[in-house]
Amino acid sequence: MTRLLLIGPPGAGKGTQAARLAEAFGIPAISTGDIFRENVKNETELGRQAKAFMDRGEYVPDSLTNALVRDRLSHEDAKAGFLLDGYPRTADQVVELDDILADQGNTLDSVVLITADTEEVVRRLLNRALEQGRADDTEEVIRRRMEVYAEQTAPLIEVYSNRNLVREVDGLGAVEEVTERILSALK
Ligand code: AMP
Repeated sequence: MTRLLLIGPPGAGKGTQAARLAEAFGIPAISTGDIFRENVKNETELGRQAKAFMDRGEYVPDSLTNALVRDRLSHEDAKAGFLLDGYPRTADQVVELDDILADQGNTLDSVVLITADTEEVVRRLLNRALEQGRADDTEEVIRRRMEVYAEQTAPLIEVYSNRNLVREVDGLGAVEEVTERILSALK
């Protein structure tokens, strides 16, 4: 059973590492960002509501995000474990996740914190914008996303540190190298 969270600033490589770790552990990688983007693409009601926030680099309201995660974690494939990429991001989401897990009689195993230098991260995200054309990858929006991370998500690291769950890993370097660092930090 593996229940993991991946926390880190935008552009630290969470999505890339999440896919690799999910494969290594045989568990689903659940990215709230991916689920929102999928909904935007399919023009669902959730997508329509989320897009307004995403395009500005703001967080989607907790009410929408929490309901989505509660539903996703109730699916059969998440029973044997999961890796959450980009959730929780607010104090309220931490409370919700605790509640979901308590309802299931489960607990978290580890929180992987991927660190990265701000300027390096901005450079990476601008690069990704060129490659993938994400609407929230303009420099102004990227800077806003970093601010929102610092204000709302960075404080969660202390919450999980106090529970002795945090494994900090340097996100700089080759993709394979970072994966190795995470795997050994989790041993
Ligand atoms: P990501 O791909 O994880 O960087 O997420 C892209 C965008 O989706 C974020 O900038 C937010 O607007 C939204 N989002 C993703 N996860 C969350 C979350 N846990 N809480 C609120 N908004 C989120």
